[in-house]
Amino acid sequence: MVRSFTDLTLTPAMLDAIDRVGYSTPTPIQAQAIGPILEGRDLIGCAQTGTGKTAAFAIPMIELLTGTGERLAGNPARLGRSGPSALVLAPTRELALQIAEAFATLGGARGIETVVVIGGESMAPQLAGLRKRPAVVVATPGRLIDHLERGTLSLGSVRLVVLDEADRMLDMGFAPQVERILRATPLDRQTLCFSATMPPEVEALVRRHLVRPIRVEVGVVARPVAKVTQVLYKTPIQEKTPLLLRLLGEERGQTLVFTRTKHRADRVARAVVAAGHRATRLHADRSMTQRREALDGFRNGRYRVLIATDIAARGIDVPGIAHVVNFDLPHTAEDYIHRIGRTARAEASGRATSFAAPEEHEQLRTIERHLGHSVPRN
Ligand code: AMP
Repeated sequence: MVRSFTDLTLTPAMLDAIDRVGYSTPTPIQAQAIGPILEGRDLIGCAQTGTGKTAAFAIPMIELLTGTGERLAGNPARLGRSGPSALVLAPTRELALQIAEAFATLGGARGIETVVVIGGESMAPQLAGLRKRPAVVVATPGRLIDHLERGTLSLGSVRLVVLDEADRMLDMGFAPQVERILRATPLDRQTLCFSATMPPEVEALVRRHLVRPIRVEVGVVARPVAKVTQVLYKTPIQEKTPLLLRLLGEERGQTLVFTRTKHRADRVARAVVAAGHRATRLHADRSMTQRREALDGFRNGRYRVLIATDIAARGIDVPGIAHVVNFDLPHTAEDYIHRIGRTARAEASGRATSFAAPEEHEQLRTIERHLGHSVPRN
């Protein structure tokens, strides 16, 4: 039974790095996944966001990549000269950036170079980064394929592959790209697949590409983190903005607001700013620079309110989000769970408030059916 990081066979350098980021005890997914990954096993991690799954793969991967210790002597996943040793695929740019950040904080001091290969950014800095022969490439599937096609990256030296938020990648239509990328990596690689839900498409992907994987599940699959207090307001659509402004006026704390469309995100943001709140927007029509500015500003508290669409907000990891507001209900229960998982990260508790107009009652029923209970009414 793993109770502390010292129960895992980690190097002193890694224990130091973990100490510096301030993690005192492993989360359940970390306690279960780190050991088997260090042993070289393929792994399926069924874990929602907010469970500490990024560190659950980053910690053992950094250990394997630096190849320290006798235990790892036989492990070939060392820093390669010819190309990257590890590849992490993620559905969105934001998530990719956060994964890279985790590798930098936990492995930077040990010389692990990480490069992010994502769409929406110019090729030049990515090419310069790739020329430095990074150990780890964190990528979204589309842009990675561009590099493969141009011959600016080869995956022949990859020893470790992570498919993060696999369900989401497949939902977004990346299945052909993921297949193609996996085919470009050596067959004897170690493969880790993390997914909040396990739909048949993910199971099929796992059957095709993982070898005798160990299965690690935390909590009940696809249930919201228990520490989130959920509340539902039934409200006509035209009353949603005044209701949001009232809640923002009554409460304190960082608030993440989800809208159905980019257009609605813009409109809600205008109203929130006009009411005197520090607010910004995050959606796919904003440039990468604007998105970074919005996310950094929200993270460091310059903005109290971030208004976002689902895709853009995927993977947002801002510690200390007090409140998630579903200004519009999402279409699927998975999205609902992902959205409210943005609050109550790791050890904190948080609130999730949803607004449901009469025209959204079908969505509400779908979500509640999936949750297995109704969302408490205000
Ligand atoms: P993730 O599920 O990877 O998105 O991580 C959720 C949040 O938990 C992030 O803010 C991490 O920095 C944080 N976290 C990860 N592992 C731990 C840990 N062992 N103790 C406390 N916080 C952690």
